[in-house]
Amino acid sequence: MPRLKHYLSKTAPDQQKSSVIAHLAALDHLENTSPEIASAIVAELEDQRSHLKLIASENYSSLGVQLAMGNWLTDKYAEGYPFHRFYAGCEHVDAIEERGKTLAERLFQAEHAYIQPHSGADANLIAFLAILIDKIQSPLLEKWGKKGVDELTKDEHEQLRDLLVHQKILGMSLNSGGHLTHGFRMNLSSKLMQAIHYEVDPGTEQLDYKKIEEQAVTEKPLILLAGYSAYSRKIDFAKMREIADKAGSVLMVDMAHFAGLVAGRVFEGPYNPIPYAHIVTSTTHKTLRGPRGGLILCKKELAPFVDKGCPLAMGGPLPHVMAAKAVAFEEALQPSFQTYSKKIVENAKALGESFQKRGVRPVSGGTDNHLLVLDISSFGLNGRQAESALREASITTSRNTVPYDKKGPWYTSGIRVGTPALTTLGLGTAEMDEIADMMVDVLKNARGGEKSQYVLDPATKEKTRERVLNLLRRFPLYPELVLE
Ligand code: PLP
Repeated sequence: MPRLKHYLSKTAPDQQKSSVIAHLAALDHLENTSPEIASAIVAELEDQRSHLKLIASENYSSLGVQLAMGNWLTDKYAEGYPFHRFYAGCEHVDAIEERGKTLAERLFQAEHAYIQPHSGADANLIAFLAILIDKIQSPLLEKWGKKGVDELTKDEHEQLRDLLVHQKILGMSLNSGGHLTHGFRMNLSSKLMQAIHYEVDPGTEQLDYKKIEEQAVTEKPLILLAGYSAYSRKIDFAKMREIADKAGSVLMVDMAHFAGLVAGRVFEGPYNPIPYAHIVTSTTHKTLRGPRGGLILCKKELAPFVDKGCPLAMGGPLPHVMAAKAVAFEEALQPSFQTYSKKIVENAKALGESFQKRGVRPVSGGTDNHLLVLDISSFGLNGRQAESALREASITTSRNTVPYDKKGPWYTSGIRVGTPALTTLGLGTAEMDEIADMMVDVLKNARGGEKSQYVLDPATKEKTRERVLNLLRRFPLYPELVLE
């Protein structure tokens, strides 16, 4: 197994030196206690160093973010929220959560932040429940003259449950680029409420605000949800708020994918959801470049419900991950993060143009953000075959449906690519052209068969692997950590 070599460049800043030592110490320790795990961790580093990471939802977090997670904070229970806990001895977790919350509020100019959700899916679930309690449960309890749900009779409880599951949520369909948690039939969100969806326009493959308004005004959903996993255009949140107001809905925005572009001031004015949405959910690990986790930002009125993430949907928070979130927010507050965010979008636009130049169609004709969905059906491949062929050639992407895709979400007609990770490494627009060139070469030289079967020309595979390595050699991942 390759080992990390103790390497400290003479010119490396002290902070960099200490993170190298910390990673070395951690792996050294694991090699003795759990060698299989140490080996897999090092192998993952080698893998990430030797493949082009074009997965739109991934990034490379800083060594500081990683180190904040690897310690004894993981041992602490802290159910509740800062200064209001169900466990003793939470003073230091209070300090960490409070600091993270304050930094998140400053970064996003939000009225209230809640940094406990373990993931984006958790954040969405807590947001749904907070809205249901604020808008449905609380008024009902008041009407019945009850102080809390524990005062309800069995019959009243059943009436409340019946009312809750009949509320409507209107979100973007999975087919158009929405997320599973936005009411997909196999997700809890579609059991908790009645889920209805809006689609992108079949011609422009972009949102049609007029149609969304008609649908919202007719359906009058409790929640109008905006946000996406695979949509390459900006959303006008001022318009979405107008629609929500006309329909009497709460506007919820899931900015899991583009939070870094909001933090980096690329999405401003009507494209920044914070001033317009009643509640905003996010992940912290995609464009925001923090640890794997979730985040909720909301208006003051919703804060008391959101802060009850435990017991609503969670148990204890993850103090070590909250510490890492605080480190990431601090990093995103630096001016260099704004430059980074701008470059993410410049790179995505350049990548889109490079594909178009080579005859590959980006869905909706291009991008305003960090991702592109490419229709690769002209190569005679489905998305699954394309994803596998590219991966064989050291290029990591994820297959994705294109709007109104006949092949469904398992095989698909498209692949999704994104630039957040490669931009972190320092790649620029010139490299995007080279990447498009490599990818098109692979796709042209792969032959699709039944279902997931395909054959990639061996010479193309070898040539592309070499090209990828040559490119990545110029932009090393964690150069301070040297393998021997
Ligand atoms: N919301 C959106 C828009 C997402 O794209 C994702 C993940 O891809 C999530 C929520 C869920 O995040 P997590 O995987 O952290 O649960």
